[in-house]
Amino acid sequence: MTGQKSKVSRLSQGNRDFRNRTRRDRNPPDEQKNISRGAPKLQAGDATAQPCILLHSGREKSLLRRHPWIFSGAIERVDGVPANGDTVPVRDAAGNFLASAAYNPDSQITARVWSWREAEMIDKEFFRNRIANALSARHELNLADKSNGMRLIHAESDGLPGLIVDRYGDVLVMQIGSAGPEHWRDTIADILQELCKPVCIYERSDSDARGLEGLEVRNGVLRGRLPDTVEVIENGLRFKVDVVAGQKTGFYLDQRDNRALTGTLAHGKDVLNCFCYTGGFSLYALRGGARSVLSIDASGDALRIAAENLTRNGLDESRAVWQDADVFQALRTLRDQGRKFDLIILDPPKFAPTAAFAEKAARGYKDINLLGFKLLRPGGLLCTYSCSGGISEDLFQKIIAGAALDAGVDAQIVHHLHASADHPVLLSFPEGAYLKGLVLRVAG
Ligand code: SAH
Repeated sequence: MTGQKSKVSRLSQGNRDFRNRTRRDRNPPDEQKNISRGAPKLQAGDATAQPCILLHSGREKSLLRRHPWIFSGAIERVDGVPANGDTVPVRDAAGNFLASAAYNPDSQITARVWSWREAEMIDKEFFRNRIANALSARHELNLADKSNGMRLIHAESDGLPGLIVDRYGDVLVMQIGSAGPEHWRDTIADILQELCKPVCIYERSDSDARGLEGLEVRNGVLRGRLPDTVEVIENGLRFKVDVVAGQKTGFYLDQRDNRALTGTLAHGKDVLNCFCYTGGFSLYALRGGARSVLSIDASGDALRIAAENLTRNGLDESRAVWQDADVFQALRTLRDQGRKFDLIILDPPKFAPTAAFAEKAARGYKDINLLGFKLLRPGGLLCTYSCSGGISEDLFQKIIAGAALDAGVDAQIVHHLHASADHPVLLSFPEGAYLKGLVLRVAG
């Protein structure tokens, strides 16, 4: 540990534009981050009537396409006095049933759909079915051979808006991002306990999105006892997972397949891993036979775990350098020093939670990718990612094309990448497809 620690150098604190978003939260419920707190007052209907949300005429279209969000602007009036998290029927202007949804007047996403079937009760049985269904979908992926860590419930895409559940060995980490699952929290925990039998269910309901939903931050043990160390073993590599204070639920499970790919590309190469967190891509590159790996992150805590992970896996410390620095600044310093690499990984935090941030985010992506291209030797590979819900795959590719042009390199796309299969994307909820990546080869 001390050996690696001494290698952690500190660059200038320079451009930290994006530092306030260092907690890269890739959970779909978080995608509405540009929506400021305090939804407009909803028109109250007949308070004595059964609770019901009535939509403006024509505003049922997205629901008919089975998109699960109902924005406040689509609502004509709310009958009855439903409480936060209550299940209410949603009807079109003519009174036809559209969906049963979880109500939250404190959010601009005023309701999130649980079910499209009028006869379906939203009760413990409903949650047991949805959770069992998500679990069996994961079982069919045959991931157990690859990893003991996986996303078990991927919110909207598993029919459970606002609910994330990640598994790290015997420990489940649950993250609630909206009022619906908040209301059913204990029921959901009971079902998870019954179906998964974990030693602990830990709650990390502390994403920024909760503020937008008017929910308090919660971080603590929900069931059982948290073991002293939580570890994920992914493709034979061991990673310590800080479920209490780490980013997201502790680990970036979505990059599993892309990390494995990096391992196959790294042999004999000088690798630069930017935004390395706890060393995911770096460890795969080292195991894959990289000549050297320079890893950069602005989180000292993440770097300490990264160095620990290196030791934990018995990998060659002499080939690894960890640097605590702002990547925007560090890339410039490397350029000025004339450093060159054969393989560069850029996996930054979310620059654009929604399309409203796209322009500013595009500048950030272009900046780091342009510098990345410049730091590559001829024939080098750039593995570049965006986990911004507000940046489409198409736009991301255009930004990268612009960066290559300005860097004066010709590059070809070798791989189009996405999140691993335990992060499915519901066809009617494209927001679920937040993570995209490209592997590019610059001309030799
Ligand atoms: N590739 C990682 C996940 C990266 S998450 C994995 O596979 O596990 C994004 C990381 O970027 C976080 O660790 C965060 O601390 C770091 N980060 C955010 N802004 C940064 C900046 N400006 N400079 C350096 N690191 C930054």
